[in-house]
Amino acid sequence: MQTKSHVAVIGAGAFGGWTALYLLRRGAQVTLLDAWGPGNPRASSGGETRVIRGTYGPNQPYSRMAARALQLWKEHETRWRRQLMHRNGVLWMAAAGDDQFERGSLPLLREAGIAYEELSADDIAKRWPQINPEGVRWGIYEPDGGFLEARASCQGVLEGFLAESGEYKQTAVLAHDLELGLDDGLTLADGSRLVADSYVFACGPWMGKLFPDTIGNKIRATKQEVFFFGTPAGDDRFLEDKLPVWADHRDRFMYGIPGSLVPGNHGRGFKIADDTRGPEFDPDTAERVASAEGLKTARDYLGFRLPAMKDAPLLQTSVCQYEDTPDHHFIMDRHPAFRLERFGALENPVTG
Ligand SMILES: Cc1cc2nc3c(=O)[nH]c(=O)nc-3n(C[C@H](O)[C@H](O)[C@H](O)COP(=O)(O)OP(=O)(O)OC[C@H]3O[C@@H](n4cnc5c(N)ncnc54)[C@H](O)[C@@H]3O)c2cc1C
Repeated sequence: MQTKSHVAVIGAGAFGGWTALYLLRRGAQVTLLDAWGPGNPRASSGGETRVIRGTYGPNQPYSRMAARALQLWKEHETRWRRQLMHRNGVLWMAAAGDDQFERGSLPLLREAGIAYEELSADDIAKRWPQINPEGVRWGIYEPDGGFLEARASCQGVLEGFLAESGEYKQTAVLAHDLELGLDDGLTLADGSRLVADSYVFACGPWMGKLFPDTIGNKIRATKQEVFFFGTPAGDDRFLEDKLPVWADHRDRFMYGIPGSLVPGNHGRGFKIADDTRGPEFDPDTAERVASAEGLKTARDYLGFRLPAMKDAPLLQTSVCQYEDTPDHHFIMDRHPAFRLERFGALENPVTG
């Protein structure tokens, strides 16, 4: 009888968690490792919520990937009998000047089969009178988009993985000499070793530290600040059933997620974030304190775009990091020093 190929997946964030689950389903024995747990406060996948949408500009594969992700979240919510996604729609507001991003997204949304409506600034103002449409020329509304409960989803994927007989260990892989090869397996922070047939590193912003020669600063982590404001008591205009997630392309790219009814983002409030890349950030050691300038930008924006929220109190802040590559696309590759024949060992190799 052929024995199963053993794969170690390092990193249980959005990418590692799903990779581990799908390797398991394709017939591998899988050990998933994470230093601090899925969606932990240092991870890029941590925090309350993430936008899920198909609009990604022209010439990209992401609209199709998002269509598949939307389908998979739906299937897994049914399978796991829990809600992780909130389908309150996503509104893109295109500025009066350059709207290439939004315009170029439309054919790819169509190709991917993602439902959308093109709205004029008047349509937006009529449908959501709580939004000030100043400076908006037109918009894209994706009714099937919305937001995911980020940390809860990563934990949900781990629970699904364990239920299908995956093995999980909460410990770190030490970064000693990984570039030289893994014939003796991984050295773990708890003093043990782990030897597998193949290894998948899905360590997001930590990849450059683990592989300083091959990745190094090709993945840069930047500080990103998130602000949660309190909605007025008894006023539901800023909650998820009355307002979609929105993305606003102006001089800065700002986006937000409305407040939600428990159990959405657990009453955390109304999220506003600035997509502009912040300063370099060390995901291990940096302190996660939002800046006064970041708060001013968020507050000024909130007062402008949603005037009735102008004096809303700040309830919480959080600091996360983007992990970005030089061309902003994913890096998905084999380590140049790794022996290729090992990748042939899976009974059902993962393709497509
Ligand atoms: C503020 C913010 C807002 C965002 N908004 C959106 C959004 O709205 N929509 C969207 O699609 N995307 C959004 N993103 C991007 C998205 O969240 C990330 O692309 C995604 O979460 C990255 O996941 P990951 O698995 O690569 O990394 P991570 O989640 O960081 O996972 C890496 C894991 O590796 C573990 N690890 C690291 N080193 C080791 C080691 N040596 N040993 C063991 N484990 C290790 C870590 O503990 C971590 O859990 C946002 C990101 C941020 C920060």
